[in-house]
Amino acid sequence: MTISLRCISCKKEYPSNAVRYVCDCGGLLDVWHNLDELRPQVSRGLFDGRLSGPPGPKDVPTTTSGVWRYREIILPASPADIVSRREGNTTLYEHPKLSAYVGAARFYAKHEGENPTGSFKDRGMTVGTTQAKLIGARAVACASTGNTSASLAAYAAMANIPALVFIPAGKIAAGKLAQALAYGATTLQIQGDFDDAMRLVREVCDNLGVYLLNSLNPFRPEGQKSIIFEILQGFQWNPPDWIALPAGNLGNTAAFGKALYEAKELGLIDKIPRLAAIQAAGASPFYQSYRGNFGKRKIMKAETVATAIRIGNPVSYSRAIRSLEWTDGLVEAVTDAEIMDAKAMVDQSGIGCEPASAASVAGTRKLVAKGIIRPDQTVVSILTGNLLKDPGATVAYHTGDWPDARLANSPIKVEAELSAVQKTIEKIL
Ligand SMILES: *Cc1c(COP(=O)(O)O)cnc(C)c1O
Ligand SMILES: [Zn+2]
Repeated sequence: MTISLRCISCKKEYPSNAVRYVCDCGGLLDVWHNLDELRPQVSRGLFDGRLSGPPGPKDVPTTTSGVWRYREIILPASPADIVSRREGNTTLYEHPKLSAYVGAARFYAKHEGENPTGSFKDRGMTVGTTQAKLIGARAVACASTGNTSASLAAYAAMANIPALVFIPAGKIAAGKLAQALAYGATTLQIQGDFDDAMRLVREVCDNLGVYLLNSLNPFRPEGQKSIIFEILQGFQWNPPDWIALPAGNLGNTAAFGKALYEAKELGLIDKIPRLAAIQAAGASPFYQSYRGNFGKRKIMKAETVATAIRIGNPVSYSRAIRSLEWTDGLVEAVTDAEIMDAKAMVDQSGIGCEPASAASVAGTRKLVAKGIIRPDQTVVSILTGNLLKDPGATVAYHTGDWPDARLANSPIKVEAELSAVQKTIEKIL
């Protein structure tokens, strides 16, 4: 099985073990699979045959990982080289409250917050770290608003490779910073914003021979394709009508389109679901470019409560446009108020997610209200991260630090006395 790195603009190819993140022409790179060669080797049956029960003592990630189960169309590495924490295998939830909220009876939420470090980033990181091992990287690095650094720190520790994390000072959710520090990454708090951190990490990687594991790295989106493969397999290869996802740096938007294109080309599915990429209104450069038919690439100063998608100049811009073309996809934007109310709804359904994740639910609701998604269509929204990632935003919403919190569940102050406690409870029941 041969893979190479291929420029999405000029199509120039490089060997898959080349340490490079962009083409000589400046274009983004894809991991390019030879689909004609792959077609006779992969099938629904191959992947279904690998579905297994809980991991046992002889567990191999090529069957139990929800990423490596699909290794032929991700990275055909041998099991001994794979750095895995048995990521993936995330739940597809259905809840009457959520269906009613979005206005579509067949609404499902796939919870990527169930991954080992609490976000979908693990799916890309298991592949990126494996590739780092394959090329003998001396260290790995990323710039991150949080979840990427948490994931990188964990996987680098598993693989025994030193990790460097560049974070913008003071703009990172508590749960995520805690993880980067706890997993032992060297953490640099750059006195600047995310774009400063990103520029610096790229220069450091080039100058010091460190392997860059931001989603610019073409192996990251390859791992994230497995979200789509799991959804397709979960629906017995009968795709839903829509897949909605939060869109920040557009790595997932890029990965999802490529996965669907490849699945169709390989004969795994007969039709391609439509992608709905959802941005926060305050961080919506891709939405604004979309509204202008991509005539001009928009860049903005980003501000939103959903820190995981607070990005003003998304890296995978051109890869994401291609995804919309492949899937007849669209882009929508939702306000922070819509995001936090949708999050409260997801949380109060017992599922729970971090703010950015709820953008996909708020976006679905908006698209149903607009008549773009029909109420009888099947929709899967991706919940990208775990509720515990950003306790600050959640507590603020419920304790009165959030304007118009329609679903606030505020703590009640009660005297330390039985009758007062009982009176309060009786009022509620
Ligand atoms: C990284 C991240 C996103 C944004 O994904 P992109 O691929 O950058 O668009 C959304 N939600 C969460 C929780 C994330 O960690
Ligand atoms: Zn090129």
